Amino acid sequence: MSLFKKLLGRKPKSLLSVVVDGKDVLSIDERELPIEARLAFPVTASSEIEFVEESGRTHTHALLGEAGFFHLSLRVYPNFAVQADGLLSASKNLPENALEKGEARGLRFQPFFIQKKGQKPPDLRGKGLFARGLHYNGIVTPSKIVLSAICDECEKAFQFTSFHSGFSDVAYFYSSSGKHTLAVSLQEPGAPSALAKPDDEALQLLERKLPSAPDASKYSYLNPFRCPHCRAAYIDFETYPEMRASEYYANVHIGQRLQQF
Ligand SMILES: [Zn+2]
Repeated sequence: MSLFKKLLGRKPKSLLSVVVDGKDVLSIDERELPIEARLAFPVTASSEIEFVEESGRTHTHALLGEAGFFHLSLRVYPNFAVQADGLLSASKNLPENALEKGEARGLRFQPFFIQKKGQKPPDLRGKGLFARGLHYNGIVTPSKIVLSAICDECEKAFQFTSFHSGFSDVAYFYSSSGKHTLAVSLQEPGAPSALAKPDDEALQLLERKLPSAPDASKYSYLNPFRCPHCRAAYIDFETYPEMRASEYYANVHIGQRLQQF
């Protein structure tokens, strides 16, 4: 083939490509924005999905560790924000209300902004799940959905589930290792309710009474939720204590059990 033909035949880089186990499953061009794309593809227990930006920057996530069909929904907005989630089911055709009926499992990927010249995306390092777009204000996220975050530090993905502490009548505490989550009944004196500013003195008394985590680290109200790979603070309440009260979803790492007090 002549060089001329080669150049003609070269595909321009897409704004965003979705790659599953090394194969392109979807490409999106800037002209198509805003777009909502839906597609289903077979996956194995060890499948990985990559969101590849035109610059080459890649966001890699594991799926749900089970074989089946992944039904992906992807939105790209004119400001280059990308939101993606999906359902894993046994069949290629997704039954209606599959998640509610327990016939599918849900996975939501951490949204991101495609890097573009002249665009300055917000700095979300250490911020909470609302700021990062993993939860939406006013919409109760079903606890059946697994959230897949990307660590700000090591850039590896990790998964966790969330529950609404206010609706569960509990306060929650992370261990200093960032690995374990403790739910404390609101009946306990000093346990701060969701959205309420804690009574500092009562909270300190309560923290002294709390048991140690399974890894012997201590629970405290301002401990960050941490990346399980490198232990960097993901939701950094030590740096941003002001966001603690409004961060009413409690998170539990996949593979860990919620501790109760
Ligand atoms: Zn990390």
